[in-house]
Amino acid sequence: MVISSARLMRRASNEGYAIPAFNIDNLESAMAVSEIMHEMRLPVIVQMIPRTLNYGGVAIYPAMMRELMADCPVDYALHLDHGNSLALAQRCIASGFSSVMYDGSAMSFEDNVKYTKEVTDFALPMDVSVEGELGTIGGKEEGDTDLEASYTSVSEAEEFVRRTNVSTLAIGVGTAHGIYKGEPKINVQRIKEIHEAVDTPLVLHGASGLSDEVLRDCIAAGISKINFATELRQAYTNGIKAEFAKDPEVFDPKIYMRGAVDNIKDVLRAKINICYGL
Ligand SMILES: [Zn+2]
Repeated sequence: MVISSARLMRRASNEGYAIPAFNIDNLESAMAVSEIMHEMRLPVIVQMIPRTLNYGGVAIYPAMMRELMADCPVDYALHLDHGNSLALAQRCIASGFSSVMYDGSAMSFEDNVKYTKEVTDFALPMDVSVEGELGTIGGKEEGDTDLEASYTSVSEAEEFVRRTNVSTLAIGVGTAHGIYKGEPKINVQRIKEIHEAVDTPLVLHGASGLSDEVLRDCIAAGISKINFATELRQAYTNGIKAEFAKDPEVFDPKIYMRGAVDNIKDVLRAKINICYGL
């Protein structure tokens, strides 16, 4: 059943694990996530960024997941990752998303509060949870940022949660999207401080490339959702490459895509084991 991310994360927070959130791009990555839920019988969050929704269409992803999961009793969430407008959040909710993110982290604090609150005012009465973001998560377009300055402050987190009523909060603690260039320095202590100060379940972005040990430390410090995207895309593409290396003449996508799905599943299984402490 599709339920909100916040419900899954509250359960996880109380029981000391984290919910893995997997970004999907197309039918094959949706199949990989669905097959792993059938196999492991554990809830995950299935998420899409706006660029993915532009690629395949907003309604296609929930429809695929519903169809693939029709015979599976495991709870999961359908989440808009890095949403950038109320209008997109509304379109996603109309298509069956149970959870949306509004990412106002690039704005001033006051604008972030204002626009995030528009989304919570709309979504929360429909039992759709809202993830806000505070602080900076590094990424492709950013160069050498001053990492200390980008950590989410405890007092801002308290004020942001109080004023926006977000269900869950993504925090900046030194992670970055995409591929890490150097050794990432994660401020686990800051996770702990924010977790103690606010009751809202916390989200870690940019987890591809972090060691298993760091991920476990983050969960122990109070992270309830961990996002994985880059590693899944790499596994997908490497899976296809391996199929073509095995047989350069293969032309039926149903044959070489199977290798990609299986390759993604290996990564999903490993991340689920870490997040659930298995
Ligand atoms: Zn992110």
